[in-house]
This record gives sequence, C-alpha cells and structure tokens, in this order.
Amino acid sequence: MIIPEATIQKIKDEADIVKIIGEYVKLEKQGNNYKGLCPFHDDSNPSLTVSPTKKIYKCFSCNASGNVLTFIQNHNHVSFVEAVRIVGEKCGIVVETQGDDEYRQSFDKYYKILQNATNFYEFFLRNTTEGQEAREYLHKRNLSDKIIKRFRIGLAPKENDLLYQSLLKEKFQPLDMIEAGIVRSASDQYFDVFRNRIVFPLEDLEGHIVGFSGRVYQDKATEPKYLNSSENKIFRKGNILYNYFTVQNEIRQKNQVFLFEGFMDVIAAYRAGINNAVASMGTALTVQQIKALTKLTNNITICYDGDNPGIEAAKK
Ligand code: ZN
Repeated sequence: MIIPEATIQKIKDEADIVKIIGEYVKLEKQGNNYKGLCPFHDDSNPSLTVSPTKKIYKCFSCNASGNVLTFIQNHNHVSFVEAVRIVGEKCGIVVETQGDDEYRQSFDKYYKILQNATNFYEFFLRNTTEGQEAREYLHKRNLSDKIIKRFRIGLAPKENDLLYQSLLKEKFQPLDMIEAGIVRSASDQYFDVFRNRIVFPLEDLEGHIVGFSGRVYQDKATEPKYLNSSENKIFRKGNILYNYFTVQNEIRQKNQVFLFEGFMDVIAAYRAGINNAVASMGTALTVQQIKALTKLTNNITICYDGDNPGIEAAKK
C-alpha cells in the first residue's frame, strides 16, 4: 500500500480545502479565511478556521489542525491511504497504490452486489402485494414508513431466486453473489439465501452494507425467527456496529453513545428520539469496535440485556 509521494503532493496542492471541508462543515468567509463550527469538539461558537492560501485548518478551541488529508482522516475515521484516495477522487486524481488494489477491488464487487440487493429488497417491500402484507406487519410493530426508509428495511420475496435473477440481469457473476453471502447453490441451481423475510441491512464500520438480518413475519413455528448472513470475507461480526457509520458525527457532538445488543434496540431508541445509538451483533465486543467508539467518545452507555450473558458482557 504505497502511494507515490508525488501523487500525495499533487493532491495536497490541487485539493480545494475550503470546498472539501465545506462538504462537512458550513463555512463562512471572514477576511482571507473561512470559519465554521469545529466537528472535532462540541462547538457552539465557530472556532474552526480554514485558510485557502496556507491550505490548512485549525481549531482555536480544541487545537485540532492539519491539512486536507488530516481532516478527512480524522473526520471520516479512515487510514491515511484511504484519505488520499477520497480526496484524490474529489479532485479527479487517480490514486494508484501498489499491493492492495486487487484485494480491495475484489471487495468492491461484493459491496456493489449487497447495495443492489438492498435496493431490490426495498423496492419489493414498497411495490408488491407481498410487500403490502409485510409493511402492515411492520406498521403494527410501530415501524413506520419513515423508519423503514431510514434503516433501509426491505423484503426478501418468497420465490426461490428473484434476487438472483435480478442480479444476473445486472451482470453480476453467480460466484460473486455466493461469496457475497446472498445466493447459494445446490445441484446446479441457485437460490436466494433470504426468502420470505423482512430484511435489515447491516453495515460495517466504514458504511458498506456487508450482510443482512432477516426476520420471519408470518407465524411459522418451524423456521428460526432471525436469520443472519454467515461470516464471509466482508461480513465479520467484529467489524459491524449497527448504525455506527450513519450517526458518528452525532455521537461526537453529543459526546455520548448508547451501545445495544441488537439492531432492533437501536431502531426502538431512534423511535424514542435517541439517535446516538449503535448495536453490536450480540455481546462479544472486539477491540476494533471499542476503538471505533472511543475514537468518538469515552462516554459509552452499555444497554445490554438484563440477563446473565448481558450483565457479564457489560462488566467486561
Ligand atoms: Zn475544535
């Protein structure tokens, strides 16, 4: 993962720091500089200054400072290499790295497949008779259309392979669909993994949809209530905090986060007006998840279930 120094310099020189920071912070011109609310501390009085001539930013309250790359790195919680890529993309400079490109590109195709699947499930929930029944089920459980949209809740049809067929039309390869964890094969036939279930997309810490949790909505005692994606190259429970990517700025601003055991708790909290909530998949927290949270705040309120495993996990 080596980026040529010349590329980094070119990006620093060509990136419009006011425009890029301005995508995240509302900036107002003041003399030669721009001022705005600092995203790195709980700021009420604009203390962030951005200098277009020096190409730097500085907060006079919390001392956060640096160049456009530092800003993206700290603001978006990404590695330096990732920050170079992001800023490069914004100013149309292709960043070529040695080594990890093939690896990452192979992940990108899975992300695309799952993004497509999410769109498909959302569409199916909104626009079909089957979807109408599922929506009524959700409404009865106080999951309004607004919540359905916000959390991108969808419906996997009961037919065997509608998603598979739809992805095939989009020119995705069956093997990639299998590796992405949403299609399986048996005796030369392909089947959708999720069928006849309400599906909740699960995002990793960087905001990629990496899997689903599917819930039955018609009472069928024979089936497990929830079915989750199996662990694979991109779906790793230790790398998932439900809702994290979407609300990271809010967590930082409020300097507090509520940590739940399941994604339904996060949705319930949202309904109750609490936005700064995330959920781990179960009670096993990884260092990676803890680091992601403590990067934003040290005030973590653990709201695990009051049963023994929950209490033990909270103590840990
Ligand atoms: Zn600050």
